[in-house]
Amino acid sequence: MKYVDVILPLPLTATYTYELPPSFQGTPAIGCRVLVPFGQKKVYTAVVVALHDNRPENYEVKQVLEVLDSKPVLLPVQLDFWRWIAQYYICSPGEVFKAALPSGMKLESESVLLLNPDYDGEEGLSDDERKVVSLFAHEQEQSLSKIQKQCAAFAALRVVKGLLAKGVLVMKEEVKQTFKPRTETHIRLCEKFFDENILSALLDELKRAPKQLAVLTKYIEMSGCVAALRLKNSQLLEEVPKRSLMEAAGVTTNICNALIVRGVFESYQYEIGRLSTTGVADVVGLSPLSNGQQQAFNQILSCFRNQSVCLLHGVTSSGKTEVYIHLIRKMIDEGKQVLYLVPEIALTTQLTERLSRVFGGRMVVYHSKFPDAERVEIWNKQMSDSPYDVVLGARSSVFLPFQRLGLVIVDEEHEHSYKQQDPSPRYHARNVALVLAKMCGAKTLLGTATPALETYYNVRTNKYGLVEMKERYGHVEMPCVEVVDIKELHRKRRMVGPFSSRLLDEMRRALENKEQVILFQNRRGYAPQLECHACGWTPRCPKCDVSMTYHMSMNKLTCHYCGFVSDVPARCPACEEKKLVQHGFGTEKVEDVVKHLFPDASIARMDLDTTRTRSAYERIISDFQEGRTNILIGTQMVTKGLDFERVGVVGILNTDSMMNVPDFRSFERAYQMMAQVAGRAGRRRAQGRVILQTKSPDLPVIAQVVSHDYNGLYCQQIEERQLFAFPPFCRLIYVYMKHKRSDVLDRLAKDMGQSLRAVFGHRILGPDVPPVARIQLLYIRKIVIKLEPGISMDKVRQCLLSVRDTLLQRTGYGSAQIYYDVDPM
Ligand code: ADP
Ligand code: ZN
Ligand code: ZN
Repeated sequence: MKYVDVILPLPLTATYTYELPPSFQGTPAIGCRVLVPFGQKKVYTAVVVALHDNRPENYEVKQVLEVLDSKPVLLPVQLDFWRWIAQYYICSPGEVFKAALPSGMKLESESVLLLNPDYDGEEGLSDDERKVVSLFAHEQEQSLSKIQKQCAAFAALRVVKGLLAKGVLVMKEEVKQTFKPRTETHIRLCEKFFDENILSALLDELKRAPKQLAVLTKYIEMSGCVAALRLKNSQLLEEVPKRSLMEAAGVTTNICNALIVRGVFESYQYEIGRLSTTGVADVVGLSPLSNGQQQAFNQILSCFRNQSVCLLHGVTSSGKTEVYIHLIRKMIDEGKQVLYLVPEIALTTQLTERLSRVFGGRMVVYHSKFPDAERVEIWNKQMSDSPYDVVLGARSSVFLPFQRLGLVIVDEEHEHSYKQQDPSPRYHARNVALVLAKMCGAKTLLGTATPALETYYNVRTNKYGLVEMKERYGHVEMPCVEVVDIKELHRKRRMVGPFSSRLLDEMRRALENKEQVILFQNRRGYAPQLECHACGWTPRCPKCDVSMTYHMSMNKLTCHYCGFVSDVPARCPACEEKKLVQHGFGTEKVEDVVKHLFPDASIARMDLDTTRTRSAYERIISDFQEGRTNILIGTQMVTKGLDFERVGVVGILNTDSMMNVPDFRSFERAYQMMAQVAGRAGRRRAQGRVILQTKSPDLPVIAQVVSHDYNGLYCQQIEERQLFAFPPFCRLIYVYMKHKRSDVLDRLAKDMGQSLRAVFGHRILGPDVPPVARIQLLYIRKIVIKLEPGISMDKVRQCLLSVRDTLLQRTGYGSAQIYYDVDPM
C-alpha cells in the first residue's frame, strides 16, 4: 500500500491522502499515528483511517514524514464513534480527534517542549539526541518547529519522538494549576531508632504509655520493619500514611504526635500519584444492599435483558451509588469494563474515595485537566493487555479506548455540565455515551433523582427501561420543604439582609442541636451589581455586554464572562456622585451577613472563587464532613451529589433568579437545582428541613419541589413542550455568529437568516440578539432552527455546512465566526 488517508486535528471536512515513502510501506495500520506536513511549513500528528494504492489526481501528494506507532493507538470502533459525533454535531472528525486525544499524543509544529524536570544525566542518548537536549540549555521552552530549524542536519522529528518516549522531553501542558499533585501525611521511624536494640529498649520504655506503644507496634507491622531491620536496610520500610496508622491503631492524632515530639517518628508529605492507587482490588468488601437496593439491582439486570438503556430514578439519598458499585462488581466478574461518568470530577472526592476503597487499582480516574503525561499513560494502558476495569471520569473519558466495555453508568444524568459548550465538538456526554455503548454492545444506566425531561420522555415512550427507588436509605424521611414568601417581607422591610426570620430561627435551632446548615445562593461575588445612587449608572465590562460583579475580598469589579478585572470607581464616572449602592447578594456578601449574625459559628463558602485548587475544594468538603464547619454557603456546587451526615437545615435564599431565565428549560432546571440542594438535608438520621425563600410562591414549580413531585413537574412541562414544539418534540440547532463589529454582524446575520430560510422556511427563527450580546469584544447573534422529528439529519448537515461556507467566502465576512450548536442546553 503506497498511500494513506488521514484525519488531521483541524476543522477540515475531508480526509487527506499522503504518500508513504518506501521505507514506511507496510508499517502503519489503521489507527496508527503519522506525522505529516500540512500547509506552508506546518507539521501535524494525523491518524491513519485508510491504506490504498490510488494516487489522488487533483493535487500534488506530500509524503508522510514519520510513522509514530507500530501498533494502532485507537480501536476501530473509536473511529466510527468520531465519525458519528462529527456527523451529528456538525463538525469535522479532525475536531473530534483533537478533543479526544491527550495533547501528548498530538505532536505538532506548535507543540511546546520542555526538558523533563525529573530527568538527570544524558546516559544512553545518541549524539543527535544530545544535540537536541543541548538546545534547552539556552531556552527552557522550544517549539517543535524551532527545533527543526536548528537541527536541520538530522531528522529532528524522529529524535524528538525518541526523547519523548524516553521521558527526557515533555510537552508543555496548558492546564497545570487546577490540579496540583495530591499529598498526604506519612510517618516514618527516625533514623536513630532503626536499630534492633534501641528499638526494643524503646518498646520496653513505652509500656508505661500503652497507646503510644500500640501505635508503634502497629507501625512496625505496617512498615515491615522487622524484615527491614534484619536486612539492615531502612529503604525497605514501606510507606505508612498517618491516617491509616491512626485508624489501624485506633488512636487520635495526639498520640501519634506525641511520638513525633518524642523524636521516634517523623512526618512528611507524600505525593500520591493518581495512577498508583492502593494497588489491590477489593480493598474492602461491598456493603450489603438494603432490600430496596437489592430489588433495584435485580430490576436493572432484568431490564437489561430486553433493553439496552435503563433509567434508575431514585430519590436523593436512596443509595444509588451502592447499587452502581454492585453492578460494577458484577461486570468486572464477567470480564467486562465499566465507564462511570460524572458531570464534574473536581466535585467528586467523596465518590472517588468510596469507589477506590472497593476497586483499588482496578479503577482509574480520568479528567481532561489531569497532567497530560498521566492521561497518555492511562490511554496507553487502555490499549494494553491489562486495561483498567473501571474508569471514573468526566465527559472527555468517553473518548478513551475500551476493549470490552460492558456498562456505562451516567450519574446525575440530568446535569447540564455534560454538554460541552466550547470549543467544538459541542457534544453531550450522556448522549454520545449512549451511542458509544451501543457501538460496543454495552448497556447504559442513567441515574438521577431529577431526570432530564428528554430522558423521562424516552422512558414514557418505552425507549428506556425504568427502575425506581422511592425511599431514602435507612428509611430516613424526605426533607420537609417550607416556603417563605419574601416579596411581602421585602415590602414590609422585614428581611435581615437576604434572610427571613423563619430561616434564621431554623438556623439557630439547628446550630443549638449541633446540626449543620447549608445555604444556597446562585451568585458568587459580593454584590452582583453596583449602581449610582443619583443617576443609575452601573459599571459594565468593556469587553462584554454584562454588568460587573463587586468582589469585596479583592475590592475589585470582575466580569464573570471573560474574567476582566477593574478597580471600583471612587465616584460615578457619569455624574460624579460618590455614593454607589450595592444591589443583590452574592455568596461573599451572604457569608459576611452570616458572620455578623452568628459570630460563634464556623462558616465556610464554596464557590468558584474559593475552590480554585483541588486541595481548597477538598478541604472545604472534609471540614464540613467532619463537623469542623457549622454553616456552608455556596453556589450550585453545593447541590451536586454531596453526602453529609449532619445537615439539619438547607436554606435556598432566592429562587427567583433561577426561574426568571428566558429559556424553555428554566423551570426544569430550577426544579432540579432546588430538589438536589434540598436533598442534602437530613440524609442519615432525622428528617431534614428546607426553607425555600421565594418572591413567587404561587408558581407550580414551587409546589412541586415542596411535595417532591417530579411526576407533576414532568407532566406539566412536557405538555408545554408539546404545545410550543420544544424538545423532545423537535430538534433544536442554534446558529451562533460572532464578529467584532456589530454592523457587519447584523448584515451577516440577516444574510444567514435569508439563506437558511430559503432552505428551511418556517423552521428558522431569528436572527436575534441574545441576552448577553457581546463577549470578549465579539458581538453575538443567534438564529434558532427547529426541526421536526423524522427529518433527515444528513441533509440538514450538508445544507448547513454549505450555507456557512458560501457565506464566509463573501467579501467582508472573512473574519466572522459561524458555528452550530446541536441540541443546545
Ligand atoms: P444517592 O446517590 O442515591 O443520593 P447515596 O448513594 O449517596 O445516595 O447514599 C446515601 C447514604 O446512604 C450514603 O451515605 C451511603 O453511604 C449510605 N448507604 C447507601 N447504601 C448503603 C448500604 N447498602 N450500606 C451502608 N450504607 C449505605
Ligand atoms: Zn451617577
Ligand atoms: Zn467581560
